Amino acid sequence: MIVGGVHGNEPAGYTAAGKVKDWDIKKGKLIVLPQANKKAVENKTRTYNGDLNRDFPQSSKESCDNTLSKSIYAAVKSYDVDWLMDMHEGYNYTKISDSVGQSLIYYPTTTTKTMASAIVSKLNSGISTSYKKFSLFRYPVEGSLARASGQYLGVHAFIFETSDNPSLSVRVNYHLKAADTLLSRLGVI
Ligand SMILES: [Zn+2]
Repeated sequence: MIVGGVHGNEPAGYTAAGKVKDWDIKKGKLIVLPQANKKAVENKTRTYNGDLNRDFPQSSKESCDNTLSKSIYAAVKSYDVDWLMDMHEGYNYTKISDSVGQSLIYYPTTTTKTMASAIVSKLNSGISTSYKKFSLFRYPVEGSLARASGQYLGVHAFIFETSDNPSLSVRVNYHLKAADTLLSRLGVI
């Protein structure tokens, strides 16, 4: 499952997800939610009716905070999602700021770590400036779709973050390259 537009002011994520939804697949099932928070995307704002990436359960007993998060979480459950990539953007490169731009943040399992490392290596092989290289982090923030899916539903889940600095097409291509690496390695494409 590929998700974009959880935050409406992160255009590389929802632009890339909008392209991935048209990819041909040869195996399995590819579910794409290009504009998770459609109202936020329309308004070009990070949030709309609260931060969607804090609305998911923060314990095994907790439920989602609202109808939108509830519907997305229900889809993850009902499709029994195996892998989840949530496309985001940070405001700066993580190696030179407090932002998480240019990073992959995964919920740790051995399998997810192997995949996450492969994606980061693939992207970094095409980036020569060291502070622009992708970093690998663990534990998506509590309340995020990736965290709740990974921790409570057993999904191999990660957030992929580009940095706001380069041009939109460069950032979109990073997302597409990451999604391509994930889906190719899984044999989906
Ligand atoms: Zn975001």
